[in-house]
Amino acid sequence: LPLDTLDVVVLLVLLLGTVAYLSKGTLWAKTETPTDYNKSLQSTAKAGKTRNLIEKMDESDKNMVILYGSQTGTAEDYASRLAKEGSARFGLKTMVADLEDYDYENLDCFPHDKVAVFVLATYGEGEPTDNAVEFYEFIYNGEPNFSENASEKPLTNLKYVTFGLGNNTYEHYNAMVRRVDESLTKLGARRIGPAGEGDDGAGTMEEDFISWKEAMWAELAEDMGLEEREAVYEPVFAITERDDLTPEDDTVYLGEPNKNHLEGKSVGPYNTHNPFIAPIALSKECFTVKDRNCIHMEIDLSKSNLTYTTGDHLAVWPTNAGVEVDRLFKVLGMEEKRHTVIDVKGLDSTSKVPFPAPTTYDAIVRYHVEINATVSRQFVASLAAFAPTEMAKEQMTRLGSDKDYFSEFVTRRYFNIAQVLELVAPGETWSQIPFSIIIEGLNHIQPRYYSISSSSVVNNKVPTITAVVESIAVPGGSNVLKGVTTNYLLALKQKQHGDPSPDPYGLTYAITGPRNKYDGFHVPVAIRSSNFRLPSDPSKPVIMIGPGTGVAPFRGFVQERAALAEQGQTVGKTLLFFGCRKESEDFLYKDEWPEYKEKLGDAFELITAFSRDGDKKVYVQHRLAEYAKEVNELIQQGAYFYVCGDAARMAREVNDVLGKILAEQRGLEEEKGHDLVKRLRSSNLYQEDVW
Ligand code: FAD
Repeated sequence: LPLDTLDVVVLLVLLLGTVAYLSKGTLWAKTETPTDYNKSLQSTAKAGKTRNLIEKMDESDKNMVILYGSQTGTAEDYASRLAKEGSARFGLKTMVADLEDYDYENLDCFPHDKVAVFVLATYGEGEPTDNAVEFYEFIYNGEPNFSENASEKPLTNLKYVTFGLGNNTYEHYNAMVRRVDESLTKLGARRIGPAGEGDDGAGTMEEDFISWKEAMWAELAEDMGLEEREAVYEPVFAITERDDLTPEDDTVYLGEPNKNHLEGKSVGPYNTHNPFIAPIALSKECFTVKDRNCIHMEIDLSKSNLTYTTGDHLAVWPTNAGVEVDRLFKVLGMEEKRHTVIDVKGLDSTSKVPFPAPTTYDAIVRYHVEINATVSRQFVASLAAFAPTEMAKEQMTRLGSDKDYFSEFVTRRYFNIAQVLELVAPGETWSQIPFSIIIEGLNHIQPRYYSISSSSVVNNKVPTITAVVESIAVPGGSNVLKGVTTNYLLALKQKQHGDPSPDPYGLTYAITGPRNKYDGFHVPVAIRSSNFRLPSDPSKPVIMIGPGTGVAPFRGFVQERAALAEQGQTVGKTLLFFGCRKESEDFLYKDEWPEYKEKLGDAFELITAFSRDGDKKVYVQHRLAEYAKEVNELIQQGAYFYVCGDAARMAREVNDVLGKILAEQRGLEEEKGHDLVKRLRSSNLYQEDVW
């Protein structure tokens, strides 16, 4: 019998359904990368809201937009601080915007009486942050085509301001902001005020920002004819207590990152905005000493469509320590109402609430706000108005205005915001502080990244990480800085091993997560793809420099090459330089290297440097210099050279030593050796994964 149209449709649907069932989604499931996510974000933005920045500013009656390119949240925080200050001090109508939320083809129509501010972090090797990639491609890398104006200088109407966040220990210091500034000027736009640059490498980011913005405001005020007024706090978010809801209601977010998680049917794509709550397959301690910890953790991704490639990073979302959550509620006088359900809404259409609501004060502080981070001087100054006593007000004002005093009292002692409030007004509660200022003034929690320390060829569903636990005692005993994520991972590991010994600093965590959703040892994670890659041809030689946890990705690299050798493939020379304090204390994966050696034979060589075992401190750079001849020969044979770990000193010194080696071995001037290293970098034969 001939089939009619309905039959054909029914058959097709059945066929597709069967294929879907049999493939369990693998036919369309892809590893989501940040770029995939950006695209999906854009299409959502396109469907729901405008991507036309000028239209948005018009609609919401704004005359200053602060666009940010942010990876870890600092640039985003600076953007919102500028927005608040512009509004409070100068009456500007400000909005903050994520660079990836808008298109820029009509930037040539930007009204001349408005101003655009670019707050741009540089990531890795002079790259834009994930959310700034498209803007950067448009304005710097491409030949921007503007909608109206095809002249050589299409942006003559555009008045702009720039501040960059960079790190001078990287070769391409503040490259992102410099390139954008250069492009905008070339296109005819006019920068107001100095091009600001903050240096994380020198530890002066905050002070660089503060001193830059004062000069910038002065010039902007002059240019736009603005009059400064006494700053008053204007909330960005409205907080409403919801007496009709309790934390038990299933519409209330208790720390779940989004609706799917709330409804218990979390779905992919998982990415840095949508974590997968992954089971911890195994956790163990890598050090043999009591006072320092390093966690090896194996994360099971088999129930997600996430996969990774050797050299990628794992994003891990932390939970704040209970003791710090309690400290903040106590000092704010909010202990009684921490579990009250609240709604948080942006007071105008351009302010985005950084977490889902309705929620509770407790969930916000525990899961969404960086309550332990470095405190900014500007934030302290803004809290002076809410001090419980005149003395406390004076002290906060002094801290806010005296850079050296602030550094000595707060920064050097690693105090977090609640500790500052406790110390400034002992025994008092700061109940006048509006909770909205806590959300606006502190960063929202960002995932931390860990270099994956396993090979995807060996197991692409269970990446491992190797994280050293941050615990820094302030000399004199006035405080101990406890890293947020690494101490959370440590607590998870202790619990998984049934270790009853309490943390000596009283850290406790909501290990089982919101509504016990992390019970059975789970941690919120995602994969971030990187450019840190083994050569596709395994017969190429590789030289790896990875002291401390810098060895993490190289464990993956060596694991992979050992597996390939076992499969009968030809594997080239594999040199690994590893360093730590003492062979008996912190020699990471000490027992595994001989196994890889067995599989790789002479191709593998591990060269160690123990800085505290002998009379002389020996570091990987010293061992590298000893291997000058072999290193030079391998590079002449096309070896890939990798560095991972500490960006501030080690990576720089290794770079320098390699330049010297190449010069000396080839009988060249030192300068030429450094040029050769630069060439290796630009041809991707010198790769870094540093932090
Ligand atoms: P945080 O709480 O984030 O503190 C980190 C630092 O911030 C402190 O050491 C201190 O310098 C500063 N700080 C925090 N609070 C204050 C305060 N109140 N006052 C003053 N200063 C403060 N780490 C690994 O161990 N293994 C890896 O394989 C690894 N890979 C990485 C790969 C990449 C690409 C990147 C970017 C980082 C990597 N890291 C790795 C580092 C890791 O992401 C984390 O930064 C690290 O584990 C610390 O996280 P934390 O949350 O425990 O500490």
